[in-house]
Amino acid sequence: MGRGVGWGMNLLLYGAPGSGKGTQANMLRARFGIPHIATGDMLRAEIQAGTELGRKAQPILAAGQYVSDDIMIGIIRNRLRRPDCEPGFIIDGFPRTVPQANALDTLMVELRKRFDCVIYLKVEVDELLRRLSGRLVCPQCQRTFPPGTRACTADGSELAQREDDKPEAVRPRIEIYLEKTVPVLDHYRASGLVSEIDGRGTIEEISSQVLVAVNGRSSSSPRSGEVARSAGGTGTAGGAGKKTA
Ligand code: ADP
Repeated sequence: MGRGVGWGMNLLLYGAPGSGKGTQANMLRARFGIPHIATGDMLRAEIQAGTELGRKAQPILAAGQYVSDDIMIGIIRNRLRRPDCEPGFIIDGFPRTVPQANALDTLMVELRKRFDCVIYLKVEVDELLRRLSGRLVCPQCQRTFPPGTRACTADGSELAQREDDKPEAVRPRIEIYLEKTVPVLDHYRASGLVSEIDGRGTIEEISSQVLVAVNGRSSSSPRSGEVARSAGGTGTAGGAGKKTA
């Protein structure tokens, strides 16, 4: 069922902050050997390195707001042109606005690529708030852990709290997601690429549903749009949540 490098698998992970995109992206990266392009991680690396972009972005991230579309589109444009993206990629954290989604469509046409699948991890707002408040992150590998965890289980590093996981930034992040990023899902639903996955189970349960969705929509199958059109709408994998984001 798995596929290796060279198949051109282009995936987009969509979901609210705290929905588990990073965890599933790590699984997909390890499984398929394609890069995980996480715009949040890229911005944090700029902040860490003290670049001009990092200095501009730092207060925006700390407040839970969005960096401008122009900057983000420039970042993703440069990143997708790098040779390591040739066999495919997993994008996480972009597009977060409809103008970003439109720019990504244009860029994909320029690059002669198309997405195989948009994985939507659905999680209720209450659960997102619970997960984000107090969550800890490994500064080395970016894995996240629940409050009280002492060290990273992968590399033993001391864990830290992300500045935007502090209580004052968590609610604005969810609010801006609901306002600006939820409409992006409709953009992709229209193209029939979306696989909805209930983000509430164990990591292993969710990973197996993600893999079923990805393998079912890969380039070796009929094109995603054709599948969805003939099925009359959006593909699903896993159960439906109640009030989800
Ligand atoms: P999360 O999804 O958990 O909020 P990320 O690591 O994806 O975290 O992003 C952290 C922050 O980086 C966002 O809150 C936002 O300030 C900024 N950011 C990341 N990607 C984008 C984007 N595509 N557009 C605007 N801002 C972004």
